[in-house]
Amino acid sequence: MDRRDELAANLRDVQSDIAAHCQRLGRELPTLVVVTKTWPASDIGLLAQLGVTDVGENRDQEAKPKHDELVELDLTWHAIGQLQTNKAKSVSQWADVLHSVDRPDLVNALSKVVHARARALKVLIQVNLDINPRDERGGCLPENALELAELISQTNGLELKGVMGVAPLEGSADEAFARLKAIATEIRGFDENANWISAGMSGDYPEALKNGATHLRIGSTVLGHRTY
Ligand SMILES: *Cc1c(COP(=O)(O)O)cnc(C)c1O
Repeated sequence: MDRRDELAANLRDVQSDIAAHCQRLGRELPTLVVVTKTWPASDIGLLAQLGVTDVGENRDQEAKPKHDELVELDLTWHAIGQLQTNKAKSVSQWADVLHSVDRPDLVNALSKVVHARARALKVLIQVNLDINPRDERGGCLPENALELAELISQTNGLELKGVMGVAPLEGSADEAFARLKAIATEIRGFDENANWISAGMSGDYPEALKNGATHLRIGSTVLGHRTY
């Protein structure tokens, strides 16, 4: 099968499964962010032809050249990886949405670079959903999310859109996403425009849909297994 047919079939399958879940749950369809990390720009071009509007990348040094190659396509680029402050400037040059804001020093680093953009950078607060949070997994502690929301809302050039979470390696994704939903409700109480919930990957998107996800981040189900 050629790559276009393979991507078309995978995309059709996952979209129909998402639609079936949404119908059963009586909810709206989410935005599908196809996570294209490790795959070539040519795959992103094919996905765009197949109607994909949103793509996700987690490494700045990989995403920037792909973005620059495909800049004429009308795609929304989501930066979904943990971000060091020294990459804030580069990411602000290709991302439309940053899903991984998790600490004040990153907000401060972004505040110094986003003025060069034509439009505000949409940001999500990444919340650590692990039972015993560890730094390397990324995300702020749940109890710090509201304070971070306040800081973002005071920062010119950043637009707070909501929250993002990754299910823990162990334990229930359903319970983790339920905790994320509660935090999302708290943040939305502070800013009603911040109504996005980015949750759910190839292995756990049904649980995310059940818990109000507005944006799914799906990679391998569409593109195949990654080799690094
Ligand atoms: C890689 C990645 C995804 C997609 O994972 P799949 O299991 O391939 O769907 C989603 N979110 C984040 C943060 C990722 O790094």
